[in-house]
Amino acid sequence: MTLSQPTQTRSRSAAYDRPAAKFTDDGRLEVRASALGQCRRALWYAATDQEVSNPMTDETKLVLEAGQALEPVVVRAMQRRFWTVAPADPDAPWRVEVEAVPGLTVTGHPDTTGAIELFGDESVIEVKTRGPEAFKRWQTLGAERSHPESVAQAACYTLGLYGDFRETVIATLDTGSRRWDYEVIPAARIERAWDRACERLAPLAEHHEVHGADPDALPERDFTAADWQCRRCPYLNACQPGMAEANEADDLDEETPEPVSDHDAQAALHEYERVQQELKSLDADKRGALTTLQHWLRGKGEAKARLEGSAKTRTVGMVTSRRYAVDHKRLNALLEPEQRAEIVTEQTSEYLRVS
Ligand code: SF4
Repeated sequence: MTLSQPTQTRSRSAAYDRPAAKFTDDGRLEVRASALGQCRRALWYAATDQEVSNPMTDETKLVLEAGQALEPVVVRAMQRRFWTVAPADPDAPWRVEVEAVPGLTVTGHPDTTGAIELFGDESVIEVKTRGPEAFKRWQTLGAERSHPESVAQAACYTLGLYGDFRETVIATLDTGSRRWDYEVIPAARIERAWDRACERLAPLAEHHEVHGADPDALPERDFTAADWQCRRCPYLNACQPGMAEANEADDLDEETPEPVSDHDAQAALHEYERVQQELKSLDADKRGALTTLQHWLRGKGEAKARLEGSAKTRTVGMVTSRRYAVDHKRLNALLEPEQRAEIVTEQTSEYLRVS
């Protein structure tokens, strides 16, 4: 493993905008650390320089660039919290290179290093930006479960920078609320993340050994057309011809199961607004009545009393309720990802929001 000193001649784009994988002049396969979670067939397409069949949309580029632009904002927020942070110079980042398996190296540029307030040792701080849903998912499930590729990436940087595994920090900004938080991943789990990444890369290195840099000898697919990885893959049409159009048609089918005219939608919206207004005023009336009852009960000096209602006699009483909160950060630090998966389960649901 090597750590190259910054070189002033490299521009940000030259250092960061590298292909996800490539063959080096000395015949090794080199994988970008930030691409560790990618499909191995997609890495092969990149390494063999195959033409991108589904280029990034302007929207995707905007999201990526906004994420990159916000990373220094997170670093400044850490400094305001008195973390000792040494951010990489974006024009001359540190470069790490680690051999994952014989013939295959992983390279990358750590965002920053530092010592956070809770422990003194210097460590890698991997900075991420996420949308509100992904941020919540990360906080609740922990990075190893929600974004395992980012932990593998941080593990690579840790090994490349220090030559060993140590506690590592994933700091994440919620781009919606502009809140940030962090998770400390213990050294043993960082090592395990790296071992898993190496296990995953080993068949790709073997594939290279058997086939050389043959662009037509494709590794097996890691995902299927229904997976988001394929839907966002720049090689989707090359890998699964016709699937991009089929996915678009599926999306359209899902969105509009039955055609609804603009006129009908407008009528539904007006009805929704009318009912919502009514509910709001009913809710205010109900709160007012409950406040009066509460004062009446207090005046009597009792916790519970009977009162004649319009149809039957009712009991009016104070109820004590308790709420329980889970500190996900502490839970994530204490439990192994497998134990967490048994305790913190995930359900998805869909609903319509009118705002
Ligand atoms: S389309 Fe799917 S299976 Fe094919 S290379 Fe891309 S991610 Fe892999």
